[in-house]
Amino acid sequence: MFSQFALHERLLKAVAELKFVEPTPVQVAAIPLALQGKDLRVTAQTGSGKTAAFVLPLLNRLMGPAQVRVDIRVLILLPTRELAQQTLKEVERFSQFTFIKAGLITGGEDFKVQAAMLRKVPDILIGTPGRLLEQLNAGNLDLKKVEVMVLDEADRMLDMGFSEDVQRLCDEAVNRQQTLLFSATTGGAGLRDMIGKVLKDPEHLLINNVSELASGTRQQIVTADHNVHKEQILNWLLANETYQKAIIFTNTRAMADRIYGRLVAQEYKTFVLHGEKDQKDRKLAIDRLKQGGVKILVATDVAARGLDVDGLDLVINFDMPRSGDDYVHRIGRTGRAGNEGLAISLICHGDWNLMSSIERYLKQSFERRVIKEVKGTYGGPKKVKASGKAVGVKKKKVDGKKTDKKTAAKGPTKRKSVNRPKADPLVSGDGMAPLKRRKPEAAGE
Ligand code: AMP
Repeated sequence: MFSQFALHERLLKAVAELKFVEPTPVQVAAIPLALQGKDLRVTAQTGSGKTAAFVLPLLNRLMGPAQVRVDIRVLILLPTRELAQQTLKEVERFSQFTFIKAGLITGGEDFKVQAAMLRKVPDILIGTPGRLLEQLNAGNLDLKKVEVMVLDEADRMLDMGFSEDVQRLCDEAVNRQQTLLFSATTGGAGLRDMIGKVLKDPEHLLINNVSELASGTRQQIVTADHNVHKEQILNWLLANETYQKAIIFTNTRAMADRIYGRLVAQEYKTFVLHGEKDQKDRKLAIDRLKQGGVKILVATDVAARGLDVDGLDLVINFDMPRSGDDYVHRIGRTGRAGNEGLAISLICHGDWNLMSSIERYLKQSFERRVIKEVKGTYGGPKKVKASGKAVGVKKKKVDGKKTDKKTAAKGPTKRKSVNRPKADPLVSGDGMAPLKRRKPEAAGE
């Protein structure tokens, strides 16, 4: 029950209005400590209810009589525009019975309109680091009176190259009394460095280990011979699975566009979302998906970040994501807040080792599914090591001086099953934090 928290009655009224009955584990753990004013470092997966876990305590701090606003008192940083917009909506829903006002500053929106909004001084400012810094540099933003700062999806902000911007904004909010940092993963050295710099004696709440990821989501793999075969499997899945809304992930914009084109040709109601799409397209795609006019979204990782769409119950990884974290984020689109979901990854021989690295990272074994109507010849490696990776054939030197014609001719065949680096690209020495990060598609997303 939310009444267990020492929250203002107007906030509890909003919670009831939203039909939230039981607080989620992250809310149970974080709300009381945040209400005490402690700095928190929270590791919690997407869909765990973490937004309410920080929004409710900070609204509680701002509760009071209506007064002329003179200072921005809370700053919330997020990596993407969509996530910032969703957080604004969440803040507005929880503050509906209060006088608290929130404002949004993200890239892709009119700079002057934002400056005018800033002149009215919202109590809570929500935004992405790049544009916030631009407004700061233009002299439109004063963060000196900020009391609470929230860094949401901090690991992702670092992935996207926002480290310096975030640090600069933290430095500007020099008089803050509390900082709350949320990340979906335990992160790497970059995150540890940031935590050391911006948090004071923080409590670490490790709510969901990635291995407990979206327990309401079944995770399957289907093997495929090549991309054209993957397209056949995809068509079969879209035609035969039961789903309200589906999202198809690719690793490149080119592949996203290609699949989108194929689906449009088959008259599917679909949209594509990637880094080259402008803000208007992105809003349209998300709105249509939410309203149900579009059933299928084709997207790359960065573009789909932070999507929270009801009824998204099918995730298809046309390409395997390049890191365990990206996998977690993709699958986090479904099975949210206890709903059921299905995640299917299409695996060619080149994806196998990456897939098994992700299985080990998550400490999970994906269900192997065979669809007899579209079954190909590849069914996984003939032999696997204890790690689950394919047993490779020893690679021979093919480009050195010593290589003779015979060896060179054999080269590509030999390389077939050894096409991944020896060192696991995903998992660091302690088997937890991913070392390799994907480059962002475009800054500011
Ligand atoms: P989040 O992890 O903050 O993105 O939340 C995921 C979804 O769960 C959002 O749609 C929230 O509105 C919803 N949610 C959060 N907390 C609760 C709760 N205690 N009861 C029901 N739904 C919730």
